[in-house]
Amino acid sequence: MTLSLGERFKPDFPMLQQLVHGKPYTYLDTAATAQKPQLVIDRMERFYATEYATVRRGVYAPCQTATQMYEAARERCRAFVNGSSVTEVIFVRGSTEGLNLIASSLGRLALKPGDEVVVTEMEHHANIVPWHMVCELTGATLKAIPITDDGELQLEALATVITDRTRIVSLTHVSNVLGTHNPIELVAKRAREVGAYVVVDGAQSSPHVDIDVQALDCDFFVCSSHKLYGPSGAGFVWGREEILRQMPPYQGGGEMIDHVSFDRVTYDEPPYRFEAGTPPIAPVIGMHAAIDYIDAIGKPAIAAWEDHLLRLATAELEQIPGLRIFGNAAHKSAVIAFVMDGVASMDIGMVLDREGIAVRVGQHCAQPLLRRLGVHATARASFGLYNTEEDVARFVEAVREAKELLA
Ligand code: PLP
Repeated sequence: MTLSLGERFKPDFPMLQQLVHGKPYTYLDTAATAQKPQLVIDRMERFYATEYATVRRGVYAPCQTATQMYEAARERCRAFVNGSSVTEVIFVRGSTEGLNLIASSLGRLALKPGDEVVVTEMEHHANIVPWHMVCELTGATLKAIPITDDGELQLEALATVITDRTRIVSLTHVSNVLGTHNPIELVAKRAREVGAYVVVDGAQSSPHVDIDVQALDCDFFVCSSHKLYGPSGAGFVWGREEILRQMPPYQGGGEMIDHVSFDRVTYDEPPYRFEAGTPPIAPVIGMHAAIDYIDAIGKPAIAAWEDHLLRLATAELEQIPGLRIFGNAAHKSAVIAFVMDGVASMDIGMVLDREGIAVRVGQHCAQPLLRRLGVHATARASFGLYNTEEDVARFVEAVREAKELLA
């Protein structure tokens, strides 16, 4: 018997061997954070137990070795997104920090009163709030590209929303609520016409889509290790070198400087200019192992399997009267946000939890999007490479049970 992709790889994940409320743990919250394969856990443990040292700050052998590993991870991240040079990869704690770094630094470089920053109606707060903050500081204005009822960008609005006042366009590659894949190339083309920078939030795309920043024609791309089956506390920003060179530092501190005195300070070159303080050393090493893990399986195979689960679950859920799914994009990731008539999303989450099933409930850090959808909260199931058809069956059964109990 041939095993499905989910059945083959689920045994790699110790957390998924656990029982929750005495039931097999059915983890459907991978869009929030992915579980970790044993190989990544082992890599981190080996690093802490036998290889641990600081990086870029010592001549002793373990420090030199740790620095080599750290820089090897940088090269791995460059290759992961097809950047041109390792100097374009900045380690951060995750997508949120990456977007804050870009908004703060690029915003100070590029924005002045009257300028505009364009996001979309489907952004995570991590790609809204940092732009608000820098707009307040610089006198620029924040605008959003509207979406259709199916949850896709209104492409006909690009020409009117992105204007010659637009300096920065920042958008998500894949929506964490709707699953929509956005046509970055098309948006970038319009941004190029007006000379705007293009920033891509890759938190949700990087686990499923082969990323090529050259083909996307963006200037910045961010992702989070913990969504890539790696440890939390790491991620990276890829940015075009010629732009990074012009950008002011984000944070000040150790190792990002060239010269410091009480009269003046000069800064190191990118990427180190943007890496103040002791970096997340072990998480970066773990992220390297996680990227190797998913690339060995192959993102096209992962995406195809998740898409199969998405279609299966969607078809089943659509049979349930009173259940409404948000997001019906032609190209959609394995995320299903839904509500049920007369049932609070929180209650759905609690009934599912009793069955050992983990879904997210609430606003998914996307209040403007939920307002656009006309709901206060939804439940959200999201699938990862380790999910199986059995997980889908248990989930659908539990949703039916929740409806009977609560509606
Ligand atoms: N952007 C999107 C689309 C996300 O889904 C998330 C997390 O859910 C983030 C940004 C923030 O990522 P992190 O919490 O890893 O910083």
